[in-house]
Amino acid sequence: MPYDLIVIGSGPGGYVCAIRAAQLGMKTAVVEKWATLGGTCLNVGCIPSKAMLNASELYEEAEHKFADMGIKVGKPSVDLAAMLKYKEAGVDGNVKGVAYLFKKNKIETFHGTGRIAAPGKVEVKADDGKTQVLETKNIVIATGSDVARLPGIAIDEKRIVSSTGALDLPSVPKKLLIVGAGIIGLELGSVWRRLGAEVLIVEFLDHILPGIDREVASQFHRMLQKQGLSFKLSSKVTVVDTSGKTLKVKVEPAAGGAAETLEADVVLVAIGRVPYTEGLGLEGIGVQKDNRGRITVDAHYRTNVAGVYAIGDVIAGPMLAHKAEEEGVAVAEILAGQAGHVNYDVIPNVVYTYPEIASVGKTEEELKAANVGYNVGKFPFTANGRAKVNLTTEGFVKILADAKTDRVLGVHILGADAGNMIGEAAVAMEFGASSEDIARTCHAHPTLTEAIKEAALAVAKRAINF
Ligand SMILES: Cc1cc2nc3c(=O)[nH]c(=O)nc-3n(C[C@H](O)[C@H](O)[C@H](O)COP(=O)(O)OP(=O)(O)OC[C@H]3O[C@@H](n4cnc5c(N)ncnc54)[C@H](O)[C@@H]3O)c2cc1C
Repeated sequence: MPYDLIVIGSGPGGYVCAIRAAQLGMKTAVVEKWATLGGTCLNVGCIPSKAMLNASELYEEAEHKFADMGIKVGKPSVDLAAMLKYKEAGVDGNVKGVAYLFKKNKIETFHGTGRIAAPGKVEVKADDGKTQVLETKNIVIATGSDVARLPGIAIDEKRIVSSTGALDLPSVPKKLLIVGAGIIGLELGSVWRRLGAEVLIVEFLDHILPGIDREVASQFHRMLQKQGLSFKLSSKVTVVDTSGKTLKVKVEPAAGGAAETLEADVVLVAIGRVPYTEGLGLEGIGVQKDNRGRITVDAHYRTNVAGVYAIGDVIAGPMLAHKAEEEGVAVAEILAGQAGHVNYDVIPNVVYTYPEIASVGKTEEELKAANVGYNVGKFPFTANGRAKVNLTTEGFVKILADAKTDRVLGVHILGADAGNMIGEAAVAMEFGASSEDIARTCHAHPTLTEAIKEAALAVAKRAINF
C-alpha cells in the first residue's frame, strides 16, 4: 500500500512534519541520508553550538564572575576533549529522541538519499548503492540548507572550516579569523574567544548582525569589543593562502582598494547558508526554484508540481529551526484537510551570545521604511532588581508599538536570558496585544521579565523604576 506522505529530510522541518502527519492518521515515512536523524539543527547546528556556548559561558563565569559573588574555585581550566564529548552527548541524546518519537508514532525511516523519480515516487539510494522506489500520495521536501562558500576558498574542515568544523576543533586556535559577522560567526567567535583564541571577525557590511535592530546591534557590537573580539567592517576576504604553517588571509576594503595580509591558524567561513536540493531530481520533474535556489511554494507549501510540497530552509523565509517546525506542522495539517498556517510576523530570532539578543516582529528600520508611525518604550537592565543581583545589567528591552492603535509591532531584547524571555513577547503579539496589555499584566518579582513590563509602561512614558 502506498504511503500517504513521504518526507525527504529529517531536520526540524521534516521530523516535526512527519510526527504531525502520523498524529493525523497518515501512513508516513521519512527518508534521511545522514546516519542520524534531526538534520542540521540537531547534528551540526542549534544543539551542538548551544552546548559549546553553554560550557564556554560557564567557564568564563567561573573565571571572572564567581569571585564577585564570594565563590572561590581557583583558576578554572579547559579540558577541550571532555567539552567536545559533553557536546556530542547532547547531540546524541537529541537525535536518539527523534528516533524514539518516530517509533512511537509508527513512522518508517529509510536511510539513504531520496530522489523524486516522478510525482508519487521516491527513489531511495542506500549507502551501499542499492535503490528502492517507494510510492506515496504526497511528498514533502525538507532537505534544508548547506554552508554558503566563498569562491576560490576551499573548506577542508580542518584549517578552513565551516560552522561544522568550528564545532569540532581539536585544539583552541591561537588566531581565529571569521568571515561574516552574522549570528553563527558571532556565536562561534564567542565560544572560541572564551576558550582562549584571539578572534578577528571580517564583515563585508559596515555593521554587524544584518537584519537585527540597528540600535541593538551597535550596542552589542561595543559589548563584544569590550569582551575582546576584534572586527574589521566594510571588508572582504578574497584569498586564503594555505601553503605555509599559518594561513595568510588577504583582506580588502569592501569597496575595493589596497589589500592587507593577516595571519590566522583557522579561518571560519560563516557568510550564511544556501538551500540544499542536490540529487533530489527537481529538474527531472520540473519543480521551480527562485533566483536564489529556493524551492518556490504557494501559501500552502505546494510547489508547481502536484503532490510535491516543500518547507524549512529549502524555501524562502528566515533560516531558523522553529520556522521550519511551524511549516512542518502547517503542511501536515493542510494535507489532512485542516487549516494549517504560519504567522510570519511573529517568528522570534535569537543570538545566543552573552548577552543574548532576542527579537520578534519589526525593527525600527523596517517600520521607518514602511512609513508606519510608532512609539518606543525602553527599559535598561541596570534598573532591574534581579539583573542587579545577578550581575547581568548589560542591555535593555525595547518595545515598538503602533502610534495609532498601540498594538505591539516589535520587541527587541539585549540582555542575559533574552532568548527565554522573548516567548512572552511572541505570545503577546500572536494575540494582538497592545503595549498597555503587557504593561497591565502582573509580572513576577524579582525577574528579568519585569524589564519587559517596564518597557511596555515606557511606551506611554510611565515606567516606574526608571
Ligand atoms: C551552526 C548553526 C547553528 C544554528 N543555530 C540555530 C539556532 O540556535 N536556532 C535556530 O532556530 N536555528 C539555528 N540554525 C539553523 C537551523 O539549523 C536550520 O534553520 C534548520 O536546521 C532547518 O531545518 P530544515 O528541516 O529545513 O533542514 P535541515 O535541518 O538542514 O535538515 C535537512 C535534512 O535533510 C537531509 N537531506 C538533504 N537532502 C536529502 C536527500 N536527497 N535525501 C535524504 N535526506 C536528505 C539532510 O541530511 C538533513 O538531515 C543553526 C544552523 C547552524 C549551521
